[in-house]
Amino acid sequence: MNKIASYLQSHLSGEVFDSPATRSYFSTDASVLEMKPSLVVYPRSTNDIRKVARFSWQLAEKGHVLPITARGSGTDQTGAAIGKGIVLVLPAHLNKILELDTQQKLVRVQPGVNFKSLQETLHTHGLFLPPFPASYTYSTVGGAIANNSAGEKSLKYGPMTEWVDKLEVVLANGELIQTGRVSKKDVEKKKGLTTLEGEIYRVVDGLLNEYGEPLDAYYDNLLVSKDSVGYDLRDVKRRDGSIDLTSLFVGSQGTLGVITEAILRVAPHNPHTELVVAALSDLESTAEVVEKLRLLNPSAIEMIDQNLIAFAEKERHATFPEELIGPDEKPAVILFVEFDDDRRSREKKAKRAERELSKLTDRIVISQDSEEQEKHWAIRHLASTVINYNHEGKVAVPVIEDAAVPHEQFINLVHEIEKLFAAHHLSLAVWGHAGDANLHVHPLLDLSKLTDRQKMLKLMGEYYKKVVELGGTIAGEHNDGRLRAPFVRMQVGDELVELFEKLKEGFDPHGVLNPGVKTGTDAKQLIELLRKEYSIVHLADHLPRT
Ligand SMILES: Cc1cc2nc3c(=O)[nH]c(=O)nc-3n(C[C@H](O)[C@H](O)[C@H](O)COP(=O)(O)OP(=O)(O)OC[C@H]3O[C@@H](n4cnc5c(N)ncnc54)[C@H](O)[C@@H]3O)c2cc1C
Repeated sequence: MNKIASYLQSHLSGEVFDSPATRSYFSTDASVLEMKPSLVVYPRSTNDIRKVARFSWQLAEKGHVLPITARGSGTDQTGAAIGKGIVLVLPAHLNKILELDTQQKLVRVQPGVNFKSLQETLHTHGLFLPPFPASYTYSTVGGAIANNSAGEKSLKYGPMTEWVDKLEVVLANGELIQTGRVSKKDVEKKKGLTTLEGEIYRVVDGLLNEYGEPLDAYYDNLLVSKDSVGYDLRDVKRRDGSIDLTSLFVGSQGTLGVITEAILRVAPHNPHTELVVAALSDLESTAEVVEKLRLLNPSAIEMIDQNLIAFAEKERHATFPEELIGPDEKPAVILFVEFDDDRRSREKKAKRAERELSKLTDRIVISQDSEEQEKHWAIRHLASTVINYNHEGKVAVPVIEDAAVPHEQFINLVHEIEKLFAAHHLSLAVWGHAGDANLHVHPLLDLSKLTDRQKMLKLMGEYYKKVVELGGTIAGEHNDGRLRAPFVRMQVGDELVELFEKLKEGFDPHGVLNPGVKTGTDAKQLIELLRKEYSIVHLADHLPRT
């Protein structure tokens, strides 16, 4: 064990590893990037995390930066769960549900708790945490908070940020703070503190005053239903002068602090839903009908396109119910519309949805039976066949996988994707959250080839330019991370990038917290970090759905 590992091991109750095998294992997440850490720590307590942060801060004060990357299950697709310093693996020990208040509908958890385990526990109390990502079987709640994750139910229930009540956070220097709304009077007291927390309140308040105008202009024009780019400053300071740092930490990908506990709001869960599945013959009419279906406030509107259907048939010999797809028919889209209201209204809404859809197709299935619904949802989750695809070195890479546009621009986004893929001679499959106009699309590339690596960067630049022109965001739910850091400026402009950099400096003056994530990575560095071979093998055991 090297000197630093040995020193830390003697001060922590958790485990410290520096073996080549462990460092290799944690050198990748689910992104196309790679970075080998110096050390891997499995903290057993908040105190362990505080000690690691304090240690790293003191080293940085002496001019040696040993960065800290908090990590959940490493399913991040933006290279934000990897780092070259210390990787803190939170699910190893900090994985408990601490308290559940069913009356107030609040749950207190440690960050490494598995999202699905929490969900199953909540279900037994008639509750649920709505913005679960497709990866929730194997990802953590801490990762979902830090990414501001969203999922198929976010159309109705919003992304993670709407469900986080308060956080406990270890700051860059090891200080421990609790977030929550602080009154104007108490903000002044906080600003008088000589601690890092005091400095953070001074910086945040100052920056919100200085950049108020460009921030308002930016948020007024961002008409997407979810966005996880940059830092969310929308509701930090209210008109009454109060400040709440919670939403700043949500979606900050471990760049402002390490979340050690979270109090989350949860919602009543209705296990009975009405699912309407329809096979539609063209994308234009799909886009139009989605606009009408949105008005019924469904809990999900999801889609897969014809290329994904063909892909699944060819690669996985998937078969589809005859009432949806006849032997000689090739629908352009399969649409999934779910209602989770009380029985009377969900039945009424499903009938109305059926009426709208029947103007376009007679291939419609309505299902109330949960087993039957599972079979239909499995069709939507066939997207995992694309993610696992590997043919002659070409794999489906997540590099432009998460853009979202204002919902009325849905069809234009699809057309832009089609044009771009045709221009680059790439095969295409699209799936995702049609109701939120948040589409997942993975080009098939061989990253061992220089031409494909260059194509990847070109594709990112061209696609994000179009997304921004359509008034969209380059990351609806997976975050910007390290991968999209060079493109954030395109979306938010120079002034907000400057604001994000100043904010980051206020929280993390020595640059120890996940540096290079969100800010501080350029296209050249990205190329240097690119994996030659992309796979998510360490997740393979857990990939039944996406
Ligand atoms: C097949 C597949 C499907 C996916 N589907 C979705 C989806 O539907 N919706 C979606 O939003 N995302 C999706 N993702 C992306 C990712 O799985 C989610 O964002 C997930 O919530 C990340 O959780 P994790 O535990 O794996 O976090 P990690 O990948 O380990 O970390 C994610 C980020 O959070 C930071 N972090 C983790 N814990 C903490 C902490 N305690 N304090 C501070 N920072 C922390 C990390 O540093 C990193 O920046 C998908 C990924 C894959 C591979």
